[in-house]
Amino acid sequence: MQSHAKVVVIGGGVVGCSILFHLAKLGWKDVVLLERSELTSGSSWHAAGQIHTISSDPNISRLQSYTINLYKELEELSGQSVGHHATGGFYLASTPERLDYLKAERSKARYMGLDQELISPEEVAAMHPLIDPSKYLGALYDPLDGHIDPSGVTHAYAKSAKHYGAAYYLDTPVIETKQRPDGGWDVVTPAGTIHAEIIINAAGLWAREVGHLAGIDLPVQPMEHHYLITEAIPEIVEFGKPLPCGIDYEANIYFRQEHQGLLLGTYEPTSTPWSVEGTPLDFGHELLTPDLDRIADRLELAFERIPALGRAGIKDVINGPFTFGPDGNPMIGPVPGMKNYWAAVAVMAGFCQAGGVGLCMAEWMIEGEPSVDVWAMDIARFGEFATAEYGTIKSAENYTRRFLLTYPNEELPVGRRQKTTAIHDRLVARGACMGAAFGLEHALWFADSPEAAQETPTLRRSEAFDHVAAEVHAVRHHVGVVEIANYAKHEFTGPGARAFLDRLLAGRLPKPGRLSLTPMLTPKGKLYGDLTVACLDEETFYLFGSGAAQEMHRRWIEQHLPDQGVAYRNRSDELHGLAIAGPNARELLSRITREDVSQEAFKFRDIRPATVGAVPAILARISFSGELGYEIYCAAHYQLRLFEAIEDAGQDLGLKLYGNRALMSLRLEKGWGAWTLDFRPDFTAAESGLDAFVAFDKQADFIGKAAALAERDSGPAKKLVTLVMETDDIDVSHDEAIFHDGDCVGYVTSGGFAHHIGQSIALGYVPADLARDGEVFEIELLGEMKPAKLTATALYDADGGHMRG
Ligand SMILES: Cc1cc2nc3c(=O)[nH]c(=O)nc-3n(C[C@H](O)[C@H](O)[C@H](O)COP(=O)(O)OP(=O)(O)OC[C@H]3O[C@@H](n4cnc5c(N)ncnc54)[C@H](O)[C@@H]3O)c2cc1C
Repeated sequence: MQSHAKVVVIGGGVVGCSILFHLAKLGWKDVVLLERSELTSGSSWHAAGQIHTISSDPNISRLQSYTINLYKELEELSGQSVGHHATGGFYLASTPERLDYLKAERSKARYMGLDQELISPEEVAAMHPLIDPSKYLGALYDPLDGHIDPSGVTHAYAKSAKHYGAAYYLDTPVIETKQRPDGGWDVVTPAGTIHAEIIINAAGLWAREVGHLAGIDLPVQPMEHHYLITEAIPEIVEFGKPLPCGIDYEANIYFRQEHQGLLLGTYEPTSTPWSVEGTPLDFGHELLTPDLDRIADRLELAFERIPALGRAGIKDVINGPFTFGPDGNPMIGPVPGMKNYWAAVAVMAGFCQAGGVGLCMAEWMIEGEPSVDVWAMDIARFGEFATAEYGTIKSAENYTRRFLLTYPNEELPVGRRQKTTAIHDRLVARGACMGAAFGLEHALWFADSPEAAQETPTLRRSEAFDHVAAEVHAVRHHVGVVEIANYAKHEFTGPGARAFLDRLLAGRLPKPGRLSLTPMLTPKGKLYGDLTVACLDEETFYLFGSGAAQEMHRRWIEQHLPDQGVAYRNRSDELHGLAIAGPNARELLSRITREDVSQEAFKFRDIRPATVGAVPAILARISFSGELGYEIYCAAHYQLRLFEAIEDAGQDLGLKLYGNRALMSLRLEKGWGAWTLDFRPDFTAAESGLDAFVAFDKQADFIGKAAALAERDSGPAKKLVTLVMETDDIDVSHDEAIFHDGDCVGYVTSGGFAHHIGQSIALGYVPADLARDGEVFEIELLGEMKPAKLTATALYDADGGHMRG
């Protein structure tokens, strides 16, 4: 075995083999895969082999279609059959809500260029005569869906990788991974040690064990899963044509043809985590004992909907484990806090996803960034809060929800209160309906009492609507208070801090005592952050930004941090805080601080240390509400005292608590985008409009400068715009298709109801030549075309008078 490699991939399942293939195909030849046994020795060999494109995240869907389209190329390169049956497939709806969901999926598919169509139950039955159409309201048909041979696919990836110059070694378990002083790794096996520049944990069922070798506790969990295969079914023999595959959400089953019978799998309502304490090292090509009782009620439903199944003999029952992550999506990329250690774990639908995962990993490693925004798969969307125990309970929850509809306004119940702030119980007592982001609880909206703080999951407006309206009213007319503990706070100190941030950020750095908005760009000019940068003094800076993206940003910052001159700390968990906003905000603030906070003494975008509510704080004059407002950051242990001071002082000023929903409504009428929705690495500064904050003429050669300058010359192809919609009881959430003159020209990135101006708003990207004030579009919302008119100016306080006043 060789003693050196640029990259060592640990694990020869479908994921590891795909990564090896893509690295070699994209040009890195010195790459090696180590497999402890033979290829497919984890969950890959016993997969059901069904492949489909639908996913909760559009970019994952896009990558799933890439994966499926790759199979032909793999077969040609490797000479290895992948057993691809391109049968097409449908997603069946038997409730009106599910049909609405499928309409939303079809809308999404349009802008992704996928060829999905809604079909009637009768059309389903014509393609699949075993199905009882009376049980359904409709279906979404995708011609790309089908099934493959899992072992064939895995071997085809490996052989194709070899074709491009990569190597793999079987029967070579990795027993130690030791970091070297040069940042590389010694990868120890019984056959010798390889010095690798980078290692990738793609160990599937053993992701946790391989993680432990490097001191990492991954929040992933293998789950038991059943499918069964029937004897030949006379109706299939008689039909004589290949049957499409299907997913029946309400029965919680998936099925496809297997020879002359059917293969049927199900995600039962009570999940069974497997080997919680760790995957046995000697587990291999064995299966688990089937337990048909566990899935009996699902089988009954399946027999009602596919009656021929009930008459068929069962040939085989498979119970095998495969690994889930806390939200069901893969966890890939460089592991934050580690050097040269990457992961590609929790890939729970490997035969749909491994191609896309391999492509993104290879692009990211070789070119420095993936070609699409991989946030929904990025391992950095979890942090320290995602412990192994959290991983087990959330994975178990996710397994049971695999085919359940998660509504845009729905907060999942498991793994809650993992992180709370000092005022959590106060907020709940005031009627807060809570949500969780990056493990931290925060108020979404406030009901009249704790008992009423319930929200019905829906694709339409919920009972929160009027409450959010009242919160918005308070902010626009009086004063509101919102918790901002969930913002990220990154601290930079030292003589090199300014120079470092000047290179990291595309915007102009503020003077001491001031703050400014700035995008952070990738070398290719894509957005990597939409941040507020504050200078407390020449050697102390803060970056405030998305709390959810704090580990992603930490990883980026640490990647670029110089060896000396600047110290960096992510202080998000230490610094909590509250923001007040509204015409009475200054009066309220003046009652709880001895600082002079008059307009002259404390201007818009000023920031300084101050005592507020009798506690040490950092006081900033800025607000995401677009109103006169202040953000007050303090140590977590001071937050309750600060909250009490604000509540006491605000009584006669019309003070009202508001939550994240109101904040999102307030920013919509200002036309401001939000990170992970309107602003993300899929878009550039000029496309998003954040080029207004790029300091093109600053001396520093900031990351992404050349790309941003080139784009300034050529102009962006598309633009983020605000559309005012005509709707009644429904608003967009994200990913709805935008039409112009009958053609799909763009898509929605966020939206909702702007309560102050009383309009339904969508933010989305459209071609730059259509981004004109007054241009009329249509947005496909649950199957209906809704008129939407572009507005080029902010709908509230366009000149910023309220905010600056
Ligand atoms: C019953 C069942 C049905 C399924 N049906 C489908 C389906 O229809 N469609 C679909 O897309 N997906 C399906 N899946 C999921 C799919 O099987 C997984 O997503 C996929 O196998 C994950 O692949 P992987 O490479 O991440 O992990 P694994 O397949 O677990 O591969 C990990 C590899 O790493 C090796 N390894 C571990 N530790 C070490 C070490 N220390 N040194 C060297 N090598 C090591 C292992 O031997 C193994 O070969 C199903 C899974 C099950 C269990």
